[in-house]
Amino acid sequence: MTPFDLQKRVAFVTGGNGGIGLGMAKGLAAAGATVVIAGRNKTKAQTALAELKAAGAQAEFIELDVLQEASCHQAIDQTAAKFGRLDILVNNAGTSVRKQPQDLTAADWHLVMNTNLTSAFFCSQAAYPHMKRAGGGKIINIGSMMSTFASSYAAPYASSKGAIVQMAKSLAVAWAKDNIQVNAILPGWIDTELTKKAREQVEGLHDRVLARTPAQRWGEPADFAGVAVFLASAASDFVTGAAIAVDGGYSVQA
Ligand code: NDP
Repeated sequence: MTPFDLQKRVAFVTGGNGGIGLGMAKGLAAAGATVVIAGRNKTKAQTALAELKAAGAQAEFIELDVLQEASCHQAIDQTAAKFGRLDILVNNAGTSVRKQPQDLTAADWHLVMNTNLTSAFFCSQAAYPHMKRAGGGKIINIGSMMSTFASSYAAPYASSKGAIVQMAKSLAVAWAKDNIQVNAILPGWIDTELTKKAREQVEGLHDRVLARTPAQRWGEPADFAGVAVFLASAASDFVTGAAIAVDGGYSVQA
């Protein structure tokens, strides 16, 4: 057994029906985990499930609206009941509203904060008793370059992504005694539906990202398979409260 083996482990990935979430779900499944992809869009989920199953994964879709606390608890309890355990939670669901701060409505603010931050807290709370009972677990929060850098057009997004890293650290110190490791991944600029919209809305974004990224390309969802396996497996048992950039060098470029 390698330290990266995930056989007999059960993973729950919010927003695992597309983009980076699906990239991580594929990695976890390839390492042996049973993977539950959770989200709202069933059409996307069917395509994602077909891809996972074609690769030999044991995978399932569960409907989840992270804006509803009850939905987070239901979906996670349903996963644990169906598969007998829950070992890995990936808090990946996310959204953005791109406007100057003075133009944002209260609804814009709450949508982004609740989707990106509050949901991760509720899902973590829902996962905790199952992980504690199993003798440990792994929680992976998805941050952003905007966990560190500012954005004039994405104040709620940057606020939520800064806070989700602090939340990972707080849960890490609270639950270390339960053998639950909580870490964050900070993606650079990745080619997904989310950034397709950003590139349409923010002039010059595509080229600015390329110019600043030492790897000279946008990231792909598949770039997240390996880091997800690392943070979900015994390989990271002494890693907790960390934030790992997966950004082609974007954050260390002067
Ligand atoms: P996508 O838009 O492809 O994925 C976002 C996912 O979040 C979707 O699968 C969506 O599922 C899910 N989601 C959104 N709202 C809800 C909700 N209310 N309930 C349940 N699921 C929801 O974008 P990415 O893959 O790029 O984003 C994934 C994560 O990575 C996000 O947290 C994002 O902020 C982060 N990130 C992305 C970067 C990038 O460059 N792409 C950079 C840094 C961070 P559904 O369609 O079913 O609603």
